[in-house]
Order: sequence, then structure tokens, then C-alpha cells
Amino acid sequence: MSAPARRAIDGQRRGRRSREQMYKDIYPLRVLGMGLGLWVICSVLVQIGELARFGWLSFATMVVWPHLAYLHARHSRDPYRAEIRNLLVDSAITGLWIGLMHYNLLPSVVLAVITTHDKFSTGIKRLWLYSLPGMVGAALLVTLLLRPQPVWESSLPVIIATLPVIALHSLAVGYASYRLIRTVARQNLELKELRQRDAQTGLYARAHWQEQAQAVLEGARHNDRPAWLLMIDIDHFKPINDVHGHTAGDEAIRAVGAAIAEAVREGDCAGRYGGDEFAVVCADTDEAQAQAIAQRIRERIAALRLTGSIGMAHASPLHITLRDWLNEADSALYRAKHEGRNQVASTAPLPNPA
Ligand code: GH3
Ligand code: MG
Repeated sequence: MSAPARRAIDGQRRGRRSREQMYKDIYPLRVLGMGLGLWVICSVLVQIGELARFGWLSFATMVVWPHLAYLHARHSRDPYRAEIRNLLVDSAITGLWIGLMHYNLLPSVVLAVITTHDKFSTGIKRLWLYSLPGMVGAALLVTLLLRPQPVWESSLPVIIATLPVIALHSLAVGYASYRLIRTVARQNLELKELRQRDAQTGLYARAHWQEQAQAVLEGARHNDRPAWLLMIDIDHFKPINDVHGHTAGDEAIRAVGAAIAEAVREGDCAGRYGGDEFAVVCADTDEAQAQAIAQRIRERIAALRLTGSIGMAHASPLHITLRDWLNEADSALYRAKHEGRNQVASTAPLPNPA
């Protein structure tokens, strides 16, 4: 199995595991969030003179509930679904307290916003939307049953109890976004790198190699800098597949890819062009240097008890497109094959049209 495929399967497994473990991640956050919420609610109950009547309920919903929610998810056959239900109950609890706090504006808005925000941060599609009926329904139920008189204004103790909730939540959200941005940036980089590489050999994949070769050709044309293109093809590769099987053929391609990677210089761009064909583009390189690289590649392939033929072409102003340059390296490669294989053939540098 190729490394990218293995990484993809690992990623899927990790995804499944993290879904099932969601309740464990949420548990400490729920304990902390609702623990802070308890002070907010109690301060409002003191302000409206209802602490004696509903103090026990604030304890039950803000202190006991987080642990019950954890146990419920933990012992459920489907912990993920159980935790989603818990999240919906959180919203209903908030709705309940909005009514019981007599709609005290600051804590009501803060608790409603934070509870809904929690749904967004799970990443579960539309969970925030599904949580709203429970929250509004619970607030309406309290309104119908108890007919609380609105107390819009918040006392100073209520404001003081609400501030840590706002501050901590903002910091936690900021930190989570920071982590997410860093993860996404790292994964984008990995994805880009993965797209640029041929999975089998680790050399550049054809499309990315072509982009690099195009840039070298343009640099050579505009700045009159010498550049060479090497096309490499394994000799008599078909019989390897036929005699030893496709897996042995794959192994041979991998080994040749590694041999080429070792033979080129730091700045050279080596890619798998397709099948048993490879290509190297060498910027700022004269003929002697290109010859040396080509011979080094040929020798390293020979050391694998295989042989390869190499065609070299010099970048010229006559090469309007990369295709022109490739065609020329291809015809040199054809000559190397024709003249007995296991050798390097070169086109003579084309004359400058000016
Ligand atoms: P020549 O010396 O003229 O190059 O002869 P050859 O047998 O190498 O002929 P050619 O280059 O045309 O054959 C390439 C073969 O490589 C054809 C295809 O079946 C095989 N091939 C292409 N890609 C792969 C691959 O990823 N794995 C394996 N095992 N075989 C491949
Ligand atoms: Mg071949």
C-alpha cells in the first residue's frame, strides 16, 4: 500500500475514534463552563430573590448534569449520538434558565450565545439549528408555567459573575481557532507536497515536473542561461513484468526512481514522466555537467542490474513550448535505444535563430 493511501486510512480511523471520544473531550469543558454558569445563575437568583426557591435546581443542572451527561454517553451503545443528545439538553437547560432568570438581559444573552457557539465548534452540520427549538421551547415552557416578570437590568454582582464567563470563553475560542489555523496550514502544505509527488517513486509527479521544466525553459529563453533536459527510459522493462510479475516491475521502478534521485544534484528537478520513463531538468548547466549527470544516472541504474537509455536536449530559443524541448530529448532517447541501449545520446545544441 502506498504511503498516501496508508495515511488516508489512518486518518479515517482517527476520525472515527475522535467521533466516539467526543464526549470525553467535551466533559471537562462542560464541567468548567457550567461551573462558571452556576455563579452567574446564582447571582441572578440573589438579585431577583429566588435563590431559596431555585438554588437546588441550579446545582442539579450546572453541577450534577455534566457528570450525568458523561455517564450517559459513556454507557451508551453509541456514545457519539448520546453526546449529541447531551448537547441538545445543554441548550434546553440554558432556555430553562433564561426564563427562570426573568430574562435578565446580560446573562441570558451571554449564556444563549455561548451554548449555541458550542454547537458550532463541534463541527456537526446544523446542530446549532437543531438546538434552538429546545432552548426556545424550555424558555417558553417556564414562561407559560411561572409567568416570570422580566428583570432586564443586571446588578453589579451579576455583571461581575458574568465577566469571567465571557473572558474565558473568548480566550478559549481564540486559542481553538489558532490551533485550527495552524493545523489547516500544516495539512495544506502536506496535501500540496503529496499532490506534487509520484506516490510510487517519491519523485515529482508529471504535472508538477512539467511546471518546473516550463519555468526552467522560460528562464533559459529570457536570460540566455544554459539548461538541459534528460529523458530516461528503462531498457527492456516489459519482460521484467512478464517474467517476474507486476510487483517486481513496481519494485524495479521504485529502485530506478531512487537511483535517479541519488544521481542528480540538489537543484535538479527529477520527475516520473510515466510508466518506466523519467525526466530530469537541469537549470544553469553546461553540456559537460549534463553529461556527467546522465552518466551517473546510467551507472546507478546499471548497478541495479537493469539498464536505462538516456536522451539529452539543450534548451534553445527555438523551443517555443515545453513540448518542443521534450520532443527533442525524446528523439535523442530514441537514438540511444536504437544504437544499442544502456547509453546516453545527446542532440547537438540548436543554433540561435538571431
Ligand atoms: P524499451 O527498452 O524499448 O524501453 O522496452 P520496454 O520493454 O521497456 O518497453 P516500454 O518502455 O515501452 O514498456 C514500458 C512498460 O512498462 C509497459 C507497461 O506495461 C509497463 N509499466 C508502466 N508503468 C508501470 C508500473 O507502474 N508498474 C509496472 N510494473 N509496469 C509498468
Ligand atoms: Mg522502457
